[in-house]
Amino acid sequence: MFLAVRDLEIRPLAIEQTFARGEITLEDVNLEWIGPLHLQGKAQWTGAGIRLQAHLAGQIAPLCARCLEPVPIELDRDLDLLYRPAEAMPSEAEVPLGSAEAEVAFFRGAGLDLADLIREQVLLALPMRTLCSDDCRGLCPGCSANLNREACRCPGHTQV
Ligand SMILES: [Zn+2]
Ligand SMILES: [Zn+2]
Repeated sequence: MFLAVRDLEIRPLAIEQTFARGEITLEDVNLEWIGPLHLQGKAQWTGAGIRLQAHLAGQIAPLCARCLEPVPIELDRDLDLLYRPAEAMPSEAEVPLGSAEAEVAFFRGAGLDLADLIREQVLLALPMRTLCSDDCRGLCPGCSANLNREACRCPGHTQV
């Protein structure tokens, strides 16, 4: 779904969209899959930007940092975001990291693609480091055995 500014200027739009598993992908992120994700809410033009108030629910599965098994995470969050036109974006020097305006984002062109919004929200929801459990034993660097459920097969290793 694409939220066009020229439509929102006329009237607010109800949003309801489900992204099936596999429909949304992210490059360079250790994710097994995203979705299905369900986004429901409304969007309106405020004069300064697109305000989007919606509920996002569904599942993502980042990979365990040690054993590379997918670890499903439930997303269930209320969003209240203001997307301003990119032309209004302050230069980088004016935006200190950790600025209080974290809920303000930017869009380019004629409007906002909800798939882009979902990608951003998934990135925000990802833990810094995913572990399937605190005592995950990971993969053997020699034989790649998943040491959580199988014994190392390296020559000379009789017991783990
Ligand atoms: Zn693990
Ligand atoms: Zn091994």
